[in-house]
Amino acid sequence: MATDCFFRENSYLKSCDARVVGLTDQGGIILDRTVFYATSGGQPGDTGVLSTSNGASVPVETAIYTDAAKTEIAHLPAAGSPVLKTGDTVTAAIDWEKRYARMRMHTALHLLSAVLPYAVTGGSVGDSESRLDFDIPEAGLDKDTITAKVNEMVASNAAVSSRWITDAELEANPGLVKTMSVKPPMGTGRVRLVEIAGLDLQPCGGTHVRATGEIGEVRVTQIEKKGKLNRRVRLALV
Ligand SMILES: [Zn+2]
Repeated sequence: MATDCFFRENSYLKSCDARVVGLTDQGGIILDRTVFYATSGGQPGDTGVLSTSNGASVPVETAIYTDAAKTEIAHLPAAGSPVLKTGDTVTAAIDWEKRYARMRMHTALHLLSAVLPYAVTGGSVGDSESRLDFDIPEAGLDKDTITAKVNEMVASNAAVSSRWITDAELEANPGLVKTMSVKPPMGTGRVRLVEIAGLDLQPCGGTHVRATGEIGEVRVTQIEKKGKLNRRVRLALV
């Protein structure tokens, strides 16, 4: 059963009421709706807690999609947690401080990809550091220059917004793909576009802050050579 994913429309929602609609073979808890982001696109699933009205509390270690189409989310409980059953009602609450830091990090990676307009071959959002891997044939990237450019974009406090677009709309607007930094996946019927006004436009399913100023100051901490055509750029919140 498809989970109603509240984090896609409102990444600032910290909790919601929900009902248990199923359990996976591994004990994952499937809710009818959730604020928990599920591991995807280099961003880890949220941690948090599911609380029942009778006072039981189930710590959630992460959330994952159960299907390739990313429609259903399982909340993975810590070992030894109280066992929930189908039909139970819960309040699902994420660890907001951790999530908010990831939203800032994730949005900063969009800015990094705007500063370095090369093909991205990988990336991940971490709690102390995040990274993007770029397909860049030559070295010569300078940490301080990139840091200054990203911080300039942070300081401009550009608005961050998202919208859904159908495959048909995308095909009807070839110019849109040209302006995007990443080519969108086609075939699922619709694509979520994330736009940082005047700076970046790309398909993305992650959670972002509303405006770049919320990211705060960032610093490029390391640039590593990862193979002949690959540079890994690490970034941290200051
Ligand atoms: Zn994103």
